Amino acid sequence: MPDGPQELAALLAGAEYAVVLSGAGISTESGIPDFRSAGGVWEEFDPMEVASMQTFLTNPQRFWRFHRPRIDMLRGVDPNPAHHAVAELERRGIVKAVLTQNIDGLHAAAGSRELIQMHGGLDRGMCLRCGARIPFDELVARADAAEDGVPLCACGFPLKSGVVMFGENLPADEIASAFDHAARADVMLVVGSSLLVAPVSQLPAVVLDGGGTLAILTESETPYYDRAGVRLHGRAGVQLTETLALLDAPG
Ligand code: NAD
Repeated sequence: MPDGPQELAALLAGAEYAVVLSGAGISTESGIPDFRSAGGVWEEFDPMEVASMQTFLTNPQRFWRFHRPRIDMLRGVDPNPAHHAVAELERRGIVKAVLTQNIDGLHAAAGSRELIQMHGGLDRGMCLRCGARIPFDELVARADAAEDGVPLCACGFPLKSGVVMFGENLPADEIASAFDHAARADVMLVVGSSLLVAPVSQLPAVVLDGGGTLAILTESETPYYDRAGVRLHGRAGVQLTETLALLDAPG
């Protein structure tokens, strides 16, 4: 039997160091499809193929043919009530950090400040050969100007965005920081992640091993479901808005 916003509000109200761990499911209400729910772009494309280092290195045209329209799609979306609720929980001092797998920038747009983007983001262009960094707008402008759609570095190598690809190392500093927050957390609220992608999938275990409590809010079960102290099923925007209202309520 799932819990409700009441149980989540009570858990958060008593937390000393709560952190949010978010995944693609927190952004579906903004119109961005996740990986594993039914429908959407990922039924048509295999993300492991099209968003991989292998494809980038061997067929950059295919890589950019997929990514260029996706960038426009991601730039056209707004944070939804779930992102806003998470930012508000941080403003109130309840949530100390937001650890996200998402690359869509919606937590930042909603006002989250201590934000750890474990899979990178659409905030720059970079060259894997010479290490050059360029502003994101410049990356997009170069892609649009190129006949084959592949933006090139001044050194001649294809450029990629700051989003981590399959087969690429995760940003070490961000991952270390995420594990550090998890080790300090007495409450971790997981929102919209299937908790199937490592090493992010190990973060809840760090909290549990430290004696903390896990709360999970998804539309489907996760491997941690049985170990969670609070389990909510349903849409993140609705559930978190109700949770905030309960935290506002007197007594
Ligand atoms: P996932 O697709 O594996 O799982 C999404 C989870 O969210 C599922 O459990 C689903 O039931 C739940 N969900 C979907 N809509 C929801 C809603 N409205 N409210 C509550 N729960 C909802 O996602 P993942 O665990 O983040 O792993 C996917 C990987 O794909 C990550 O590495 C991420 O970087 C990447 N990705 C990111 C985006 C993005 O930035 N928005 C989008 C797609 C994929």
